[in-house]
Order: sequence, then C-alpha cells, then structure tokens
Amino acid sequence: MLPEQFRCFLVQKSGKEAIETSLEQRPTADLPPGDVTIKVKFSSLNFKDALAATGNPAVVRKFPHVPGIDAAGTIFESSSPDFKTGDTVLVTGYGMGADHWGGWSDFIRVPAEWVIPLPNGLTTKDAMALGTAGFTAAQSVQALLDHNIKPDAGEIVVTGSTGGVGSIAVSILAKLGFSVVAVSGKADKHDWLKSIGATRIIGRDEVHNETSKPLLPARWAAAIDTVGGDTLATLLRSTQHSGCVTACGLVGGTNLNLTVLPFILRGVNLAGIDSAECPRNRRLELWGKLAGEWKLDSLTENSATVPLSQIDNSIQQILAGKISGRVLVDVGK
Ligand code: NDP
Repeated sequence: MLPEQFRCFLVQKSGKEAIETSLEQRPTADLPPGDVTIKVKFSSLNFKDALAATGNPAVVRKFPHVPGIDAAGTIFESSSPDFKTGDTVLVTGYGMGADHWGGWSDFIRVPAEWVIPLPNGLTTKDAMALGTAGFTAAQSVQALLDHNIKPDAGEIVVTGSTGGVGSIAVSILAKLGFSVVAVSGKADKHDWLKSIGATRIIGRDEVHNETSKPLLPARWAAAIDTVGGDTLATLLRSTQHSGCVTACGLVGGTNLNLTVLPFILRGVNLAGIDSAECPRNRRLELWGKLAGEWKLDSLTENSATVPLSQIDNSIQQILAGKISGRVLVDVGK
C-alpha cells in the first residue's frame, strides 16, 4: 500500500512573482494520474530542471510544481500488464518535470508508455548518471551515424563539452573511435576532457563567429552542438561537405543567423534533437546501446551525487554554466 504522504521538492509561487522552493510532505492523492506508480531511487539535474526549480514559465505553467525530468526506481503499483511490482525502470522526458510532477520526489505516477524497463547492464544509478543528458547525447551520436559520418571522416566538434550532454557525447564518440574536439569555456577542465576522450580542446570563441559571412573555412566532419545561437550558426558554416550538425540546446540563444548556402553548396545536414517526445522504439534502441556497446566505464565516477535536500547550490551552478559532468539526485536523502 502506498504511504499516506510522500516527500518531494515543491516549487510554489508566493505573491505575484516570487518563487519559493521547499522539501514538503504531500498527500499521495496529489500524485498526477497515470497507470504506473514508481518508488524513485535516483533522479538527476538537467538544465531544464534548474529552469523548472526557479519557476521559469518556459517549463512550468502550473504551480505547485515538482521538477525532475528523469527518474529511476522500482514499480510500486501498476495497472498496466506491461509492468509488475518490483520491476526496475527508468523514465525520461515526455511531460515529466514539466507539465507533469517529476522525479524529485519519493514517488512518481506516469502513463505506462513513458516507462522503460531498466536495460541489463545498467543500475538505477547508472541510468540517472546518463538521464536525459545521456539520452540526448546518444540521440546526437546516432544522428551522425544515420548521416553516414564515420571515424575516418575527420574531426567531430562537441560544444558545451563539460556539460551533461556534451561530456557524454565526447565519451561515446571517443569510444566509437572518432577524433573529438571538445569546445569548452572552462580552462581548468582540459585534463578532465582528455581523460573522457577528447583529442584536443578549443575555446568557445573558436566556434563563435558573429560575422554575416555565409560560409567559413570547412573544418569539421560533423558537430554535436548543445549551445545554439551564433555557435550553431558558426558550426553550420564551417562543416565540411555532406557533414552533419546536431542541434539540441539553447544556452547560447534561440536565433539562427544563417543563409541557405551551407545546405545548398556543401550539403550540410542539420539534425534536430528532441529527447522529450522521442518515439518509444527509438528510446528502447538507444537505451539498449547505452547499456551495451556504448556503455561508458566511468559513468558514476564522472557524476556528483547530491542529496535532494541539498540540491539548491547545484541548481545555481548549472544555471551559471559551472557544472562539469552530471549531477545525480539521491531523492531519499
Ligand atoms: P549543462 O548545463 O550541463 O551544460 C551546458 C554547457 O554549455 C556548460 O557546461 C558549458 O560548457 C556550456 N555553456 C554554458 N553557457 C554557455 C554559453 N552562454 N555559451 C556557450 N557555452 C555555454 O546542460 P546540459 O548538457 O544538460 O544541456 C545542454 C543544452 O541542451 C541545454 O541548452 C539544454 O536545455 C539542452 N537540452 C536539450 C534537450 C533536447 O531534448 N533538445 C535535452 C537535454 C538538454 P563549457 O563550459 O564546457 O563550455
């Protein structure tokens, strides 16, 4: 039987604009509708969670709100024939932690279609060391493979490389034998980036060209961009013929100042990456790879584990772009 109450990280509006957060006990009846109730063991911190935790209207439309776009744990109750009590599972994306209460909580309740059986080879902790960031990195790498980019094509550049998506993309690409150039604004993280597989490291300014030149010298076989804005526009203008640039992020802006020339003169492909609504078959396939041929040895070593009760500092750090690697959230602490 479910307990009468559960603990969660609650984001509330106090007054007209002010946002307040606290760890609270809520009645279990407050859990959103869904056919599967999961006892959460670990969640994680993504950039989107930090936006949710600060009440950003782009993510949170209804208060009170519980952030957490990722969760892994065991099935507590299920009315779906696909899951039974005790199964270990993970959930990432869909509306979780956005318009549906999320994983920074003892329990989540979600539709069965959102739930992925934990693949053999991953613990709940490994799964959350990956989380949405790792899944997005996997989608980005898969997009390059789908566009026929091979390890002998030349250098692959990864922006935001010390961040969650970037660092996991660097590690997977290196594991697959690609030559990876990591872009980072953190001068003190070069050794760490090399330890996770970067062949060389360059500064953010090298992939940030604000001129209106329609094309720049073609440097990269492909790019995984997590930044957006002028960085993405620079990468598209400096990718070689038939290359591919993936776009998942917006920390550097949402506008794209560009002509069509990279597309029609160099055949450059722009691959959009959306992890939230990624179709279920693709999810199962990519989680299988993350647990199998793409499995990273040092997953939890490159993650900090933070108790849910002490998450505030990490929220500010990720908003300031200061986190390296992943932050796991231990929801029981
Ligand atoms: P993180 O905060 O972990 O990493 C972002 C990294 O980007 C930072 O560590 C920093 O790396 C770099 N960075 C930060 N600010 C700037 C800036 N102003 N200009 C250039 N670089 C900057 O975030 P995540 O890895 O979790 O996510 C990355 C992006 O991808 C975010 O925009 C996020 O919203 C988006 N995202 C999108 C998803 C989708 O489904 N489309 C899913 C997951 C994430 P460094 O210091 O090394 O340069």
